Amino acid sequence: MSTATEEKEPKESLNFIEIKIEEDIANNKHGGKVQTRFPPEPNGFLHIGHAKSIVVNFGIAQKYQGACNLRFDDTNPLTEDTKYVEAIKKDIEWLGYKWNGSVCYTSDYFDQLYEFAIKLIKAGLAYVDDSDAETIAKEKGTPTQPGVENEYRSRSIAENLQLFEEMRQGNHPNGSKVLRAKIDMASPNMHLRDPYLYRIITDKPHHRTGDKWKIYPTYDFAHGQSDAIEEVTHSLCTLEFEVHRPLYEWLIEKLGIFPSKQTEFARLNLSYTMMSKRNLRQLVNEQVVDGWDDPRMPTISALRRRGYTSSSIRNFAEKVGVARRENLIDVSLLEHSIREDLNKTVPRVMAVLKPLKVVITNYPEDKTETLVLENSPEDESLGKREVPFGRELYIEQDDFMEDAPKKFFRLAPEREVRLKGAYIIKCEEVIKDDTGKVIELRCTYDENSKSGEDTSGKKVKGVLHWVSASHAIDAEVRLYDRLFNVEQPGSQAKKEGKEFTAFLNPDSLEILQNCKLEPSLKSSKPGDQMQFQRLGYFCVDTQFTTNDKLVFNRTVSLKDGWAKKNKPAQNQPKQGQPNPNKKKKKKKEKNRGTQFPGAQNQAPGKPNEPKTDS
Ligand code: ATP
Ligand code: MG
Repeated sequence: MSTATEEKEPKESLNFIEIKIEEDIANNKHGGKVQTRFPPEPNGFLHIGHAKSIVVNFGIAQKYQGACNLRFDDTNPLTEDTKYVEAIKKDIEWLGYKWNGSVCYTSDYFDQLYEFAIKLIKAGLAYVDDSDAETIAKEKGTPTQPGVENEYRSRSIAENLQLFEEMRQGNHPNGSKVLRAKIDMASPNMHLRDPYLYRIITDKPHHRTGDKWKIYPTYDFAHGQSDAIEEVTHSLCTLEFEVHRPLYEWLIEKLGIFPSKQTEFARLNLSYTMMSKRNLRQLVNEQVVDGWDDPRMPTISALRRRGYTSSSIRNFAEKVGVARRENLIDVSLLEHSIREDLNKTVPRVMAVLKPLKVVITNYPEDKTETLVLENSPEDESLGKREVPFGRELYIEQDDFMEDAPKKFFRLAPEREVRLKGAYIIKCEEVIKDDTGKVIELRCTYDENSKSGEDTSGKKVKGVLHWVSASHAIDAEVRLYDRLFNVEQPGSQAKKEGKEFTAFLNPDSLEILQNCKLEPSLKSSKPGDQMQFQRLGYFCVDTQFTTNDKLVFNRTVSLKDGWAKKNKPAQNQPKQGQPNPNKKKKKKKEKNRGTQFPGAQNQAPGKPNEPKTDS
């Protein structure tokens, strides 16, 4: 027999929004209907923070057999543009969501919103104010001091109607008048001290309504009313709008319109990332990045170009969850989520990013062997491929060290390593140029050590990736690092009184021009994804790749900082305390591209490669 508490326990854990929605459904509020909306302003490309809001809004609609509208909140012609509308629609579809019916625009409601404003004026609840912005701000007072009522507040209804009509017709210049709600200049909530409802904007046509309108509703006036017009039952937004909620409710009540309910959740903040569209636009305009979809940007289009899948972004958003309190999410959680996805789905191939020539002196000059290697240890159905092996090869420069310490399990004079899927080789001679730079290694191979049929009896620890020199294809590879070199560029900039651009990471992009890839990659198409063994997950760039030139982006390296950090029983510092492991970790991460895939370098729980290879 189960106890009462057991019976009450929900089958799955619900977040606070879902709990509320289930209560509303149980109470048959709005006939049990769930209608949400995602309301971007078309003034930039969507970023990963918007992705979270999309997953929340569309996800809830899906879960409760409701619908989610896409509504462009286009009330400011100065910053908005159709190109952003198109980019936003593309991103939402790519994320795997379908909006309800046709796309909605706040600008479609301009007539109706105007009528709402007239209704407020007629009820004595709105007035035209001729004061300039500075005076209005001053008269608003401070959180500890009540505001003052000015002379315009007592204008007659008739005069207000007349002036508002003149504003609409464009008879008054920009900034000369505003329409304000008449609420309470002494309210403890500053947003209720006669907030702006309409402002005059005459100098730029609207991207949809052209120059029909000379006045535009403010966010506060347009947003809740648009929700009501669309009969949005649950208007989900980020925490900064919590203080606007009393105004949202005041307007609904005074206008007697559909009672949408606003609920706030914490916005997504990611470490080493700036998320506001305004800041991102600045990076684009100042050409710090090569566009909104530069793979270093946190936009959805950049993540897509970089090789993130839509499911990895949805999974990330779900893992982050919905919270009531602001927090900072470690960007390595996002990286973890794409790694997890690609590990299961993409083929492994060999590519050498910084090539060093190896000549196997005891291998016949004109011989080529065709090795058959499996494409993925995670998924047999990905099949096998042929990889040519010959006398001249490339390995990574970092996989050789002349004066190697004992624990360097790669190649060094007189030492042996296995070439992945092939033979064990031994370094016999090091060739240098005039400057002393190592330009070639002379090695010998053990013909009895072939992978899969090894009778050499040798045990070697290191396994290196390689590419046959005469068969290799050339490519450019782009390695990305964080765009900022401090955890919270926004607040750091504020704290130090600097521009956020002061914290840009100068090494966020490394372009390698002379990479050598195994020939199976010859027919790669833009967007193709793969793992370069020991190096990371890569994709063929969709912008820079041409018929003559393959360009690859590194989506993410193989090492999983997040899984490691969250390993139980690790000595993690408490929040706010300096992290003694940090310096060490950074150094390790720097070397991540060159690590031997043996046990000690392996991210816990995430075997990317088998540990032995014979
Ligand atoms: P930005 O400052 O980046 O321009 P915004 O809030 O002004 O963001 P909107 O286009 O107005 O951008 O936002 C559309 C929706 O996305 C809003 O409901 C907003 O609350 C939500 N949103 C924006 N940024 C985030 C974020 N970092 N985390 C979660 N939701 C977000
Ligand atoms: Mg905004």
